[in-house]
Amino acid sequence: MSDLPFLVAGGGIGGLAAALGLAGTGRAVRLFEQAPAFEEVGAGLQMSPNGVRALRALGAWEAVAPSCVIPSEIHMRDGRTGALLQRIRLGKGFEERFGAPYRVCHRADLLAGLLAVGRGTGRIELNTGRHATAMEEHEGTARLVLDSGEMAAGAAVIAADGIRSGLRAAIAGNVAPVPRRVTLYRALVPLEKVPPEIEADCVTLWLCPGGHVVHYPVSNWRSFNILAAADGDGRDAGWHAPATSGEVARRFSGACEELESLFAAPAAWLRWPGADLPQLPRWSHGNLALLGDAAHASLPFLAQGAVMALEDAAVLARETAAQPSAASAFRAYQDQRKPRTARIQEQSRRMSRIYHASGALALARNLTLNLASPSFALGRLEWIYRWTPEAAA
Ligand SMILES: Cc1cc2nc3c(=O)[nH]c(=O)nc-3n(C[C@H](O)[C@H](O)[C@H](O)COP(=O)(O)OP(=O)(O)OC[C@H]3O[C@@H](n4cnc5c(N)ncnc54)[C@H](O)[C@@H]3O)c2cc1C
Repeated sequence: MSDLPFLVAGGGIGGLAAALGLAGTGRAVRLFEQAPAFEEVGAGLQMSPNGVRALRALGAWEAVAPSCVIPSEIHMRDGRTGALLQRIRLGKGFEERFGAPYRVCHRADLLAGLLAVGRGTGRIELNTGRHATAMEEHEGTARLVLDSGEMAAGAAVIAADGIRSGLRAAIAGNVAPVPRRVTLYRALVPLEKVPPEIEADCVTLWLCPGGHVVHYPVSNWRSFNILAAADGDGRDAGWHAPATSGEVARRFSGACEELESLFAAPAAWLRWPGADLPQLPRWSHGNLALLGDAAHASLPFLAQGAVMALEDAAVLARETAAQPSAASAFRAYQDQRKPRTARIQEQSRRMSRIYHASGALALARNLTLNLASPSFALGRLEWIYRWTPEAAA
């Protein structure tokens, strides 16, 4: 394999994790992020056991863990009556079953942890304010073209430039995100502003006709993250448009009192149209590869967007260490990751139909949740949570 550095375009969770994984194999990495600084923005992320395992493989879990919140339980509730439908304890038993804990964190804390470990390796050159416009293979090397006119040469390029990737076309042709007729709202509230009737130490999922709401504490218990998803025409203007509590409440008319008081708590909401990617024909072409949302963006209903990017990075690093060339490493990475992420995308779409059911379907769902033991309910998530970097080989 060439001694040139690996080039990474995009410094979100996926790009930083990829850089970290490659640095861990002894490679030099040059990372280019278009924003003027690594964006410590966003809101809450659920870090399921497979995400914790990926972070361990990347050597970053110790750095991220202190900023994660340990929720006590996951609750599923009927958003109209408030009734508890399912309760899953996240303590010792859960951790023993899956070999890793379940945590929640703020995206900024995950990003900060990855950055700190990345800087500590001494092998990653971190560039901000550098927009990549194209990538190409050229006589055995890979090149990344930057808007400054610079042409960076490397052993390989990894494009981790998100769902609206501009670099994707070089590998997979012109593929646009698909709007999925759902509007997503999110807000962060100081913990002391959370209405007392809301259990602030749990991850709670409220199921409503035509929508659902998820909330949990983040940022060392300082903030409370709320995500609301409402079926709609998917033609909402803007990517991160401002929204009001009144708008969110109107989308959930008929919600129980607890939810109504929760909708009123944030001073501001952000709104964006839910979208994902169709199956790409391929994720790699020679020594060029796609990673994270650029390859397999999904709706956030299994809470696996960031976690899948971490898994990608762990597998990409392992294959780079094991294979004789970047091209063969990227092929092996693609072959291992594509089926799993396709299943996540498909199941995330399916979850919206189940979570947003109304009428007889909602009654049947609620009855099933009521009758199912927590152990049975968790069994349906085993294929996600039991992932290990080694098993992916
Ligand atoms: C600002 C922001 C906030 C988010 N907040 C949340 C959240 O609260 N909860 C949640 O579940 N998910 C959130 N996400 C999405 C979540 O982080 C992703 O699903 C997951 O982390 C996969 O990340 P990614 O690195 O593949 O893509 P992204 O997180 O989208 O990162 C892509 C990065 O590439 C950069 N980039 C794009 N094009 C170029 C280019 N041409 N050249 C150089 N750099 C480029 C972008 O600026 C960005 O930093 C957020 C994403 C972003 C960008």
